[in-house]
Amino acid sequence: MQELSRSLTLSECLNQTFSCSCGRTHRADLKAAYIKKGALKELPEWLKRNQYEKVYLICDRITIGIAGKKVKELLTASGLEVYLHVISHQAYDEATLGELLIHERADCDVVVGVGTGSINDMCRYFSFKLQLPYCIVATAAPMDGFASSISALTVNNLKTTFEVQTPRLIVGDTDILRGAPYSMISAGLGDLIGKFTCLCDWKLSRLVNKEYYCETIVNMVSDGVRKVLLNAGNVKEKDPQVLGDIMEGLVFTGAAMSMIGNSRPASGCEHHISHYWEMIFEQRGQRPAPHGHQVGVGTILILRLTELLKMRTQIDFERARTAAEQYRFEQWCKEIQDAYGPAACGVIEMEQEAGKNETRARLKRIGKMEQNWDKILELLGELPSSKYVINLMRGLDAPCSPSQIGVDRQLLKNTLLYCKEVRNRYTILQMLWDLDLLEELTEQLLAEPDT
Ligand SMILES: [Zn+2]
Ligand SMILES: [Zn+2]
Repeated sequence: MQELSRSLTLSECLNQTFSCSCGRTHRADLKAAYIKKGALKELPEWLKRNQYEKVYLICDRITIGIAGKKVKELLTASGLEVYLHVISHQAYDEATLGELLIHERADCDVVVGVGTGSINDMCRYFSFKLQLPYCIVATAAPMDGFASSISALTVNNLKTTFEVQTPRLIVGDTDILRGAPYSMISAGLGDLIGKFTCLCDWKLSRLVNKEYYCETIVNMVSDGVRKVLLNAGNVKEKDPQVLGDIMEGLVFTGAAMSMIGNSRPASGCEHHISHYWEMIFEQRGQRPAPHGHQVGVGTILILRLTELLKMRTQIDFERARTAAEQYRFEQWCKEIQDAYGPAACGVIEMEQEAGKNETRARLKRIGKMEQNWDKILELLGELPSSKYVINLMRGLDAPCSPSQIGVDRQLLKNTLLYCKEVRNRYTILQMLWDLDLLEELTEQLLAEPDT
């Protein structure tokens, strides 16, 4: 077994088991990822090398034109048998799953999907149920779910997640990725930028809660993000190198989640913001902005809140303790019912189990924060400035304020105050709440002209 003690590239991690300096063993299940110009040409060879002969190729009406036809030609020309199905159903639900099953030839030995999020989720689920290996040819890279083992499908009209399988192979051909709409590219970048705040959350939790932490994985994820940001100015020209770096960073964070066994390396308070928005938009029957754009805006909001916190010369820990003593679960439940509507029940149940807001737990964290305040400031000091991220996103014509993605002021206020309750995970927002500063800083942020 190799030792994982330095920052490795994506290709060095794949299909490997590492003993790590964090004390755990990490395994990356993804077997191969070809992310470069002309990567598609590698697909037939890889399939043949792994002794697959009959391919069930799945596209939708859009991805068939972007890459599906070309994939079919390439595979057929290399002697593989290909059964192509173009999904006709619009939603990614039971009906689409049935459609895939009806058109599946029983003797196929591998599934290849062509597309991004929804197709990838559906094909991952379908192939898992049929116990077939799965590969994805990406037509865009708008989020980090490629290497994930979780599929989100609509079942009984409700978005539901399932633990399924990761793809064996991911193909990111920059000649194809270049054809993606510009908004999908900036969404991918938004999802990547969110890693700054998410990794900061993890570091804070290590300090305050002694949560398990893996420095090597953290460095690997942040190296990937920094690499992209170095050349982010070239995104606008759809520079193949930058597009490849974005895709690689996104695939890597997906792989990092599977190496850790949960989403800590890829999802923090900026994602809680996005989850909350998605839920509220769904309740309203509206379509939310792309995930990566929501995460980008969420990241900017969190950065701004931490900047307001850093402007305070002194933190009143006594005030925080008083607030902890005054916390009343019944009052909190009322607020959650207002902020979450029909979803409140699940949130309240989660808190009953986790008890993260309870006085004792909060007082313990306040003590830890008081002891380590200098270190906390140091961690917050490692974050990029909100201005830097705003300029970056603006330069890419990506949204950088809540109003640009349909979030009004009341929703924004509820988001900042209550989105931390969507998961039992310690984040910057939980820290601000612990300090009894979340409401005050939120009001301050709302009063800013750009918000
Ligand atoms: Zn994400
Ligand atoms: Zn580790």
